[in-house]
Amino acid sequence: MGERKMNPKVIDGLHDTQPEKSPTAGQSHQGGFITTLTSWCNKVRWFNFTMLITIPLIAFLQVPWVPLHRKTLVLSIIYYVTTAISVTAGYHRLWAHRSYSASPTLKWLLAAFGAGAVQGSIKFWVREHRAHHRYTDTDQDPYNVKKGLLHAHILWVITKQPRKNNRVDISDLQNDRVVVLQHRYYFLAAFFMGWGFPTLVAGLGWNDWHPSVFFVNQATFCVNSLAHWIGEQPYDDRRSSRDHLITALITMGEGYHNFHHEFPSDYRNGIEWYQPDITKWGIKLCEQLGLAYDLKRFRQNEIGKSRLQQVFKKLNVERESLDWGPPLSKLPVMEWDEYHDKVTQGHHLVLIGGVVHDVSKFIHEHPGGESMMRLALGKDATTLFNGAVYLHSNAANNILATLRVAILRGGCEVEIFKQQNNSLDMLAKETPVHVQDQPKSIAGHS
Ligand SMILES: [Zn+2]
Ligand SMILES: [Zn+2]
Repeated sequence: MGERKMNPKVIDGLHDTQPEKSPTAGQSHQGGFITTLTSWCNKVRWFNFTMLITIPLIAFLQVPWVPLHRKTLVLSIIYYVTTAISVTAGYHRLWAHRSYSASPTLKWLLAAFGAGAVQGSIKFWVREHRAHHRYTDTDQDPYNVKKGLLHAHILWVITKQPRKNNRVDISDLQNDRVVVLQHRYYFLAAFFMGWGFPTLVAGLGWNDWHPSVFFVNQATFCVNSLAHWIGEQPYDDRRSSRDHLITALITMGEGYHNFHHEFPSDYRNGIEWYQPDITKWGIKLCEQLGLAYDLKRFRQNEIGKSRLQQVFKKLNVERESLDWGPPLSKLPVMEWDEYHDKVTQGHHLVLIGGVVHDVSKFIHEHPGGESMMRLALGKDATTLFNGAVYLHSNAANNILATLRVAILRGGCEVEIFKQQNNSLDMLAKETPVHVQDQPKSIAGHS
């Protein structure tokens, strides 16, 4: 594990290029194979490999020939959940993030059963996990999901990793007797709790001594792989952490991982009542039993802000994918006379709210009829557009914005409204009487 002194040459060797193969010598071929095999063997953490791969594989292969005792099956499930929660509630939320405090009894239990999950000692695990949070998705992240799902899931723990420049502070663990002792006797503890203890329970309890009784836990590995792979990102999408119900169910509640990366010292991962977070419920139960205390929660105000910012961010992306028309600041300024002259020359320009619009492509599609729009060409149609003839819809305003071509000098809305009476009088003379007489809501538009 991490505590073992690794030969720097071996560690660095992970990046060594393989010796070039000679095209002529068959002997070199064999030598190359042996070198590759040796190099691969040097990369493997053999204790973890044996506990996590070899023994479960042997047990699995024996399934067709060995009758499964019902009590053993029940014990398997209970032990599976217990070791998983010991990692999630102990290794992760207690020691790595200090999201609550635990009594010595609870600490010993979490340390013992946590060792049974064979994910390294608390000291090793916390160091790697704090580096994961600090350097998420980078080369310094021990289980960087960008190196592949399998690497994030299990390869990081069964193979030696190149030395990384990912310093983190774990000085708070130095005075924790439980952590120090578990680290010192980790291999013994992992072997006994991962294999010996459950075998003894089944053997002494109902005489099932068969080695198919094996309980090493894979569930919590999904936190590092699936929780950075599938799901939503309601709090922040700059890193790969995600929230997903399935991951939460597999990992005892750790699947609300997007929340966790944003608020790591909160003892909860699933904060809603309907989000299954077994670890949170377990910690809460321990609090009721007097085994856990000082449970930390982030203020709801901060959580709400993050969630809302992410909503705005997503809306903004959607907003930017739509055509809202050219920004006013980018439009040229046009004089009144120029506007008027252009209309006289045949341009289909309409002034509304101090902005000149080119309606030539839209005039034939105008739901209120082409003639209504022609009446407004070359004039200030602000009040006509905003209710004098018809109070146009929000959609109409949006379409109008896409037709902007210029800003009229001195044509801001205030000045336009000052001229409202004059404009209305002038336009009224040219507007058909039957339109004026109709109520605004039905005047000329559907
Ligand atoms: Zn993570
Ligand atoms: Zn964490």
